[in-house]
Amino acid sequence: MFTSPFFRRLFLPYLLLICAATAAVGVFAARTVYSTYLERQTDALRQNLRLVSHAISVQLAAPSAASTLDPEVKRIGAAIGNRITIMRADGVVIADSEANPPQMENHRNRPEFQQAFDRGEGVSARPSGTIHTDLLYLAQPVEDLDGHPIIGPAGERYYARLAVHLDQLHHNLNVLYAGLATAALLAIVAAGAICFYFARRHTAPISDLTHFADALSRGDLARRTYRDEKGEIATLATSLNTMAESLSSLVDQANKDKAELLTILSSMSEGVIATDTRQRILIVNNAAGKLLGFETSAAVGKSLFEVVRNDQVIKAAGEVLARSQRKLISVGPLSTRHLDVTLCPFPTQGEPQGLIVVAHDITQSFQYQELRKEFVANVSHELRTPLTVIKGFVETLQDGAWQDQRKAPEYLNTIHRHTNQLTNLVSDLLELSKLESQSGQGVAPRSAPVDLSFVIHKAQELLAPAVEKKRQTLTLDVAPDLPELSGNADYIERAIANLIDNASKYTPESGRIQVTAKANGHYAIVEVVDNGIGIPREDIPRIFERFYRVDRSRSREMGGTGLGLSIVKHVAQVHGGQIEVESTPGQGSTFRLKLPLG
Ligand code: ADP
Repeated sequence: MFTSPFFRRLFLPYLLLICAATAAVGVFAARTVYSTYLERQTDALRQNLRLVSHAISVQLAAPSAASTLDPEVKRIGAAIGNRITIMRADGVVIADSEANPPQMENHRNRPEFQQAFDRGEGVSARPSGTIHTDLLYLAQPVEDLDGHPIIGPAGERYYARLAVHLDQLHHNLNVLYAGLATAALLAIVAAGAICFYFARRHTAPISDLTHFADALSRGDLARRTYRDEKGEIATLATSLNTMAESLSSLVDQANKDKAELLTILSSMSEGVIATDTRQRILIVNNAAGKLLGFETSAAVGKSLFEVVRNDQVIKAAGEVLARSQRKLISVGPLSTRHLDVTLCPFPTQGEPQGLIVVAHDITQSFQYQELRKEFVANVSHELRTPLTVIKGFVETLQDGAWQDQRKAPEYLNTIHRHTNQLTNLVSDLLELSKLESQSGQGVAPRSAPVDLSFVIHKAQELLAPAVEKKRQTLTLDVAPDLPELSGNADYIERAIANLIDNASKYTPESGRIQVTAKANGHYAIVEVVDNGIGIPREDIPRIFERFYRVDRSRSREMGGTGLGLSIVKHVAQVHGGQIEVESTPGQGSTFRLKLPLG
């Protein structure tokens, strides 16, 4: 309780006030009692002095009676219990009830006598110079009962002084003071207790409310306070409760918003980082860590440059914050990734309070662009060769060679062959682009039930002349119970024809080609096996790429475009199937086309 400053501020001043007031009252009472007591004593002395004056007036007036004065004074003094001193106007003591006058010094300078000489009465409370004890003195000229001064034989005037011992008075006063002090003390204790009670009553709710407000500020927003009493404190408690309620719902809302924001951020494929103006990371999503190559869990609270180890991004972040201007940079390759990074200050207007970094993975479109460039270069290259040949021979013919009976047919033959090559190339390109656009958009080819056996026979018929020309043996082994599959018969025929065509092209004369088809689980499997030249191991992963040939000139000679296997791969893909290859150089190759059934 005493540790509460509010309690101390309320209680201690009151306690001090009570002490001061009680002390003032006590001192005043003590002084009043003292002065009243002295006054009473003075009054008693005054009366006694008049009686003493009257009693000794005879001794003073008659010179014969002077010798009896001192004994008389001693007798009266003993009787009334006061010390009596008689002196002449020159200060010589002529009688004293408690001392021997000849031994007493001149009393002219005693304050009470001085006052009596000057004003007719003198009062003084002080220690006696003669008997060394505290006395109250009253001195007056000696007068008779009518107030006439007593004149001595030699015409001199006398002064009488009565004194009372103050020891008793002091003792009585001490008892009184002790009583007063005890009463004052009791009053202070009682008033202090009352004060304590009220101070406590007023302090307790305030300190309760202080603790409550403390708890709120520490985030304990579920706490509430209840007060029975009415008035300002109860109003304050209600206001604090309402405040806690609003705070709680605000914090809930803020937490909900934050959770929503974090959910949105975590589900984004773009990397997002928010920092303050000192580039200290406030929010970061997983995608940012993945794209920019850092551990997301430990990133919050760290500086951007500690986390993102890319000079371009760090430099741009500094510039954006300094100029308050949005910036887009291309970053990469960053461990094989290419990124577009947008940096912008927030808010977009006014003094920036932070920075938002958004990283967008453009690797795929970057690769597409690269592929497109490569494709255009390849196509141009593929077209240029036959066109150059055709142009050359046409010009030769124009220059007169058409008349040469021997050479003209040969030239025309070459032109024809290259024109075929061009036609093949263009039709393969068209086919491929059709297939690619379908597989790229995830569109299945126009689907219909496909009789695989029929399709294989058609492909065989198509290639029969070429096979026969090279005196190769082509055998078909198609399972009789082969179920129908769903797909595009033309595409499948084209794929199988391409595989047979390749088998024929890359197998020497009199070689063997075998086509088998069977169902295996959920797939129909068409295998084209030859005993031709085979494919080197290192080329196998690339033969399905567009325009890739193991031996370019040999392929061209055969009328190949380098697109045949690409077309097969796309046909397999658009049907949800696969193409596999096994090959041993010098021994032959096996191409396996797997197409899903049903
Ligand atoms: P091409 O029009 O040149 O035949 P493809 O895409 O059909 O193009 O084939 C790519 C390359 O794969 C060919 O140039 C050839 O080197 C190789 N290849 C394809 N099939 C076979 C096979 N059966 N035997 C050996 N090599 C083959």
